[in-house]
Amino acid sequence: MKYVDVAVDTRSDMVDEPFTYACEDDGICVGARIEADFARGKSKRGYVVAVRDVLPAELDGKPIKKILSVDAEHSLPPDAVGIALWMRRRYFCRLIDALACFAPPADPPKRKKAALADGGGGAGEGQGDGGGDGDEMPKFPIMPELTAEQAAAFGQIKSALGSHAAFLVHGVTGSGKTELYMRVASEAISGGRKVIVLVPEISLTPQIVKNFTDRFGRERVAVMHSKLSKGERYAEWARAKNDEADIAIGARGAVFAPFGDIGAIIVDEEHETTYKSDMMPKYDTVEVALKRAARAGAVCVLGSATPSIVSMHRARSGVYRLLKLTERYNKTPLPRLSVVDMRDEMKQGNRGIFSHALHSAMDRELAAGRQAILFLNRRGYSTFISCRACGYVLRCPECGISMTHHKERRRAECHFCGKYLPVPKACPDCGSAHIRHFGIGTEKVEELARAAFPNASVARLDLDSASRKGAAAKILDDFGAGKTDILIGTQMVAKGLDYENVSIVGIVAADVGLNIPDFKSAERTFQLITQAAGRSGRGDEIGEVYVQTYSPGHYAVEAAANADYDGFYRTEDLIRRTLSYPPYSDIYQVTATAKSEGAAARGADAVLAALLGAVGGDERANILGPQKALVYKQGGDFRYSLNIKAMPAKRGAYESALSLIKKKINTDKAAGYRIMVDVNPFSMG
Ligand code: ADP
Ligand code: ZN
Ligand code: ZN
Repeated sequence: MKYVDVAVDTRSDMVDEPFTYACEDDGICVGARIEADFARGKSKRGYVVAVRDVLPAELDGKPIKKILSVDAEHSLPPDAVGIALWMRRRYFCRLIDALACFAPPADPPKRKKAALADGGGGAGEGQGDGGGDGDEMPKFPIMPELTAEQAAAFGQIKSALGSHAAFLVHGVTGSGKTELYMRVASEAISGGRKVIVLVPEISLTPQIVKNFTDRFGRERVAVMHSKLSKGERYAEWARAKNDEADIAIGARGAVFAPFGDIGAIIVDEEHETTYKSDMMPKYDTVEVALKRAARAGAVCVLGSATPSIVSMHRARSGVYRLLKLTERYNKTPLPRLSVVDMRDEMKQGNRGIFSHALHSAMDRELAAGRQAILFLNRRGYSTFISCRACGYVLRCPECGISMTHHKERRRAECHFCGKYLPVPKACPDCGSAHIRHFGIGTEKVEELARAAFPNASVARLDLDSASRKGAAAKILDDFGAGKTDILIGTQMVAKGLDYENVSIVGIVAADVGLNIPDFKSAERTFQLITQAAGRSGRGDEIGEVYVQTYSPGHYAVEAAANADYDGFYRTEDLIRRTLSYPPYSDIYQVTATAKSEGAAARGADAVLAALLGAVGGDERANILGPQKALVYKQGGDFRYSLNIKAMPAKRGAYESALSLIKKKINTDKAAGYRIMVDVNPFSMG
C-alpha cells in the first residue's frame, strides 16, 4: 500500500492543496492520472504529485479514501510535477491549472472495438499505411550545406547538446534560422532525444511547419494546432506521448508536449507577445521552455531578428550564449527604408493616408508586376467614435474600452470582450448630431487602397477576415500565387511571410503603438517596423519600405529605419534601467475583482496594506495604484489593480507575500472580493 498526494481537477478556486489517498498499486508514480472519490461520492480526475510509503502523522486515524482507478495511458511527463510546482509559485496559479497544461488536449476518441486488431495496448491508430519501417533510425533527406555563419552557430549548439545550455540566436530575417533549428533538431534526434519547436502562431507560420515535416517526415512530427478538431489534437498528442513522433511543433502550448527525454527546445521569434499566455495560468512560454530544458538537460535555442530587450539583456549578462547571423542566406541586401514625415505631407496638402513617396513607388512596382504589403496594427474601420459637441466617447458598457467601428459588420465592437452595439447617429449623451469617427483601421486602409489603386486587386488579413477556419491560409495562398497585388493587414502580415515577389512594404502609421502608455510600446514599435520591413525584397530585388510617421525623430522609429538593433537596445536598456522596468525588475499586476466597484476598490486598498506590512513601507515607491484597471469591468465584475515593480532583491519577499495574501483572500468567502496576480503582464493598466 502506498499513500499518494493528489491534485484534484476541480474548477473551484478554493481548492489548491493536494489531498491524500491510499493506493493499492505499489507501482504508482508521480504524474499518474487517477480517478478518486473527491466529495460525497463524486469521483474526479486528478494527478499524483507525491508518493509516500507511510501515512503522514497528521492524517493518522483519519479515514483515508482509496484511489478508484489509474489511467496509465495519460500519465504526465516525468518533469511535469516539478515544473507545475515552479509555475504555481512563479505565476500564482493553482497547481492543478499548471498540471492541466501537460494533460492531453481532449479525451481519447471512443474506440470502435471491431477496428482494433491488436487487442489493445495503446497506440496504433491509422490503417498502418505509410511510415511502415518504424524501428529503423530516421533518415533525413539531403541537408544543404551551411553557410559559414550558420556552421559557426551550429557548432556551438552541437557541442552543448547533451547537457543544458541556452542560446539566443540574433539573426536577421532570411538569415536561415530555420535551417539552423532543423540541424539542431536532427542532431538531438540522432542522439535518441526529442525536440520541441515553438512558433508564435501556427496558422501564420505554415512555412516553418512545412520545412520540418518535409525534412523529418510528417509521421515523425506531431503538429499541435488549436485549429485542429479535438480528435486530431488528441491523435497528435498521443503520437508524441507514445514515442511515435520525435518533434512536437506548435504554438505556446506545445512547450508542454508529453516527451520524456527532451534534447532541445527551440523558440522561434522569441520576442512575440503570443508567447505570454493570456489565460490562467498566465505563463511566459520562454521561461517555461528554459525551465523544462534545464531540468531535462536540454539545449534551449531562442531565435529572433529582434530579440526582446529582456532576452538580449540576459544574453549580454552571460545567461544565454549569443549567436549572430548577420547575412541573409541569398545575400540579398536588407531592404531600403525611408521614413516619411506625415506632417510634411499634410503641409503639402496631402490629407490622404498614402504619402506621395509610397503612392508613386507602389504605382511603379505594381505596374512592373510586383506585390505590396500595407501594414497597420489596428483592425476595424475607424478606431473611436466621439461627439464633437460634448466630448462623449463610445465605450463598451461591459469593460470601458473605447469601441471600434466595423463598417462591414455595421456595428461598433469592443475588441476586448467582443460586445457590439449599433453605431450611434446622434450622441447618446447630449443628442448632438456631431458624432464623428477618428483613427483608421485596416478596413479603412483597404477601402482607401482600392480607391487609390483601382487596377490592383486587394486583400486584407486581420482577425476579422481570418475568423473562419482556413480563411487566413486562403488569403495567404492567393497572395503567394500572385492572385492579389496588395495585401493589407495587422501584425498577422508582419510575421513569417516569405514571398519573393513583394518589393514594397508600407507601414501606414508607425506611431500607432507608440501612443500606448506602456513601457514596452517602444520595443513593440521597433519590432513591428523591423518585422514588417523584413517582408520586403525576399527575392532578387532590393526591397523598399516606407515608414509613415508623425514622430520621425522617435528613437524606436529612427533605429528601425536604420536597421540599428544595437542602437535601439542601448537606448531602451538605459531607459529600463533608469526607471527600473524589466529586465531590471519583475512587474506584478495584482487585480482585485468584486461585484461592486466599492468592494473592488476597498479590496485593492486592503491588498496594498497587507503587502506593505509584509515587504516594508519603503516599497510604497515601487507600487503604482491602486487604480481602476484598464479593463475595469469584466464579466460583471469591477476591477482595481496595483502594479508592482519588484526588484530582484525583493522578488522572493513579494512572491511569498502575494501567494499568502492571495490564498487568504481567495479561500475566504466573506472577503467580498477576490484577487489575481499577473506576472509581467501584457500591458500595465
Ligand atoms: P529566417 O528564418 O532566418 O528568416 P529562413 O530560415 O527562412 O530565414 O531562410 C531564408 C531562406 O534561405 C529560405 O528559403 C531557406 O530555405 C534558405 N536557406 C537558409 N539556409 C540555407 C542553406 N544553408 N542552404 C540553402 N538554403 C538555405
Ligand atoms: Zn455629445
Ligand atoms: Zn467590452
